[in-house]
Amino acid sequence: MEDARIVRHLHFDTSTRPFLILFELTRACALACRHCRAEAVPGRSVDELSSAEVCRVLDDLGAMGPPRPRVVFTGGDPLQRPDLDALVQHASRAGLSVAVSPAGTPRASAASLARLRFAGASGVSFSLDAANEHVHDAFRGVKGSFRWTLAGCRAAARIGLRLQVNTTVCATTVLELPALARLVSELHAGLWSLFFVVPTGRAVAGQALSAAETEDVLAFLYDISTSVPLKTTEAPAYRRILVHRSQGTVGPRPGNLYDRLHARLGDVWPEAERSGAAVRTTRERDGRRRAPLAVGDGRGVVFVSHNGDVQPSGFLPQVVGNVRDTSLVELYASAPLLRALREPSALGGRCGRCELHAICGGSRAQAYARLGDPLAEDPTCPYLPEDLVTVSSR
Ligand code: SF4
Repeated sequence: MEDARIVRHLHFDTSTRPFLILFELTRACALACRHCRAEAVPGRSVDELSSAEVCRVLDDLGAMGPPRPRVVFTGGDPLQRPDLDALVQHASRAGLSVAVSPAGTPRASAASLARLRFAGASGVSFSLDAANEHVHDAFRGVKGSFRWTLAGCRAAARIGLRLQVNTTVCATTVLELPALARLVSELHAGLWSLFFVVPTGRAVAGQALSAAETEDVLAFLYDISTSVPLKTTEAPAYRRILVHRSQGTVGPRPGNLYDRLHARLGDVWPEAERSGAAVRTTRERDGRRRAPLAVGDGRGVVFVSHNGDVQPSGFLPQVVGNVRDTSLVELYASAPLLRALREPSALGGRCGRCELHAICGGSRAQAYARLGDPLAEDPTCPYLPEDLVTVSSR
């Protein structure tokens, strides 16, 4: 159905081997972000995994042999852990590719980033939610965060760390996306990762986008993806748009938000507006887009919290076990919820009937947060699968 150049598949069995471990080392953070999944707090928790416990998990992952999972140390702010450099070094020596996701604070100095690089980190990711200092700082809850974040991004590039920029997409930030696209491009980020707010943690439902708004944003992202390499998190229906556009299927006319985003793009980045694909699609343009991986919560990706609890994702707070009791490798392969999340036939509603569920599968976190069932259809996707169109037109 889909073209391998449009959406990439892993070349190993994700039922026994994760691709990406999101490892929350602490919930301590100096920022006070409005939407924080981790509900981060100023101080470190007494039940954080110790250095030895984290290293044991890393050793288990390393012992899997190639292709070993990638590890992202996140938080909270992982720079609040005094043992961070040692943990990065341990991961690297275990044969794991390791990246760090620091908070945009003075701790993310050029010196601390250089130490991470020296310890073996291959990349860092910073959160930027607006190209405007006041909007970003208000969103992150601390004045100065925008400036510290930009300084961290530029230092990472100088030091030779691969840079990823993360953006939370929600009601407050959505109209910042055009200006952010330009800023991300100017920072020479290797990847722009757009996190669609899941109403969990501090994020409230009023901040999350509706299905129609999500569709508009995804269509806009498709258009500019020739200008900036990007991926979406908790909005995998972006892959459906990629596949459909590559087949010349434009889909329903996007709505008002799509038009507003393009109007803003024309103001802040007119060069991108001219080079964007807009709603005209060709295979030649698709060849220049970054092809996202067909992975998802529990399906190649797994989350370890600061106290060792294992979840399909940080945005899907269903604990399937704890690394203090059971090895992460074993939990990933055998936990019933994770197994169900990897089984397309277990999905309900439209996602279960969708001809694209193997490459998309819907956001399991959005389904859980909004419908209370991680296997339900993704309520942020308005797509009516071909199967159901056929049934309804009979
Ligand atoms: S219906 Fe579900 S599987 Fe199909 S595109 Fe939408 S979110 Fe993805």
